Amino acid sequence: MPEGRCKYCSEIEKCSVCGNKVESFRHVGVRACGKLKSEIWHYAEPCGHRNDVSQEQPEQAKASGKLAIYNGGPLWKDGYEWVNVFWGKYWQMQPWVQFIDRAVNDIETNSSYSGGLRQYNVGMGTVKPSVIIQDDPPSTVSNKAIGGALDAWIKAGTIPDLGIKGAYNVFLPPGITATLGTDSSCSVFCDYHDTANGDKGPFFTCEPYPCSTGCNQCTSSSFDTMTEGLSEEMVELKTDMNPGTGWVIGNEELCDYCDAHYVCNKISTGEYVNAWYSNLAGACWKR
Ligand SMILES: [Zn+2]
Ligand SMILES: [Zn+2]
Repeated sequence: MPEGRCKYCSEIEKCSVCGNKVESFRHVGVRACGKLKSEIWHYAEPCGHRNDVSQEQPEQAKASGKLAIYNGGPLWKDGYEWVNVFWGKYWQMQPWVQFIDRAVNDIETNSSYSGGLRQYNVGMGTVKPSVIIQDDPPSTVSNKAIGGALDAWIKAGTIPDLGIKGAYNVFLPPGITATLGTDSSCSVFCDYHDTANGDKGPFFTCEPYPCSTGCNQCTSSSFDTMTEGLSEEMVELKTDMNPGTGWVIGNEELCDYCDAHYVCNKISTGEYVNAWYSNLAGACWKR
């Protein structure tokens, strides 16, 4: 498949929104709120419009119950590292930082939730010390801007250079809107994962400050909203580092499938997490 194309977008020549020629698509793994579906969202380049793609699940996967198939792209290995990046002055003196750091560690090291991904040839990593970025983000920040900021912070030594052996969780303060094309956080999506430069990374999840509605079906706690989103994006980044090239179920990633049949779940350390689909069990993860 050519760079920037998957089997669901390989034939699309013109943007369905503006009609301009499509050079390639940027694929982003998105957890939706509201009417849209959690799946791999396709943004046409260069115009930036989201195009819907048709998806069908391969017949042989359906017949075997092994719904997830692997497309050959990079996967998370043992020893890969997470760095939590808290963007903005808000995070100084903010007790949430240590709770989030602990949640990321609990999620990554949970032998059932993360260890279960070994069936997909995905390993378990560690969490490096988090970084608080002292400059505030702009009031709206796109995935391209986050990718560019990560590249710049790596170059400046503000954050460690993980290369392809890790990823960054980027946390935005309250009141900051994340955007994908013309789509906004808390309006059409909760959070997402992406890569700044395809297979070369840096790989990242983006966690806007928890949305008040649409992103938590279990409790009214913002912290639970955060861990539900984080767990999903961490799992989907690990199993599909460059969205669409790793383990997918049609145009969905492993948690997207389970979001459509949502069950509230906690790991043993108490954090709410979103389930991922297990080929081995033929079902979504349960504690
Ligand atoms: Zn595609
Ligand atoms: Zn367009």
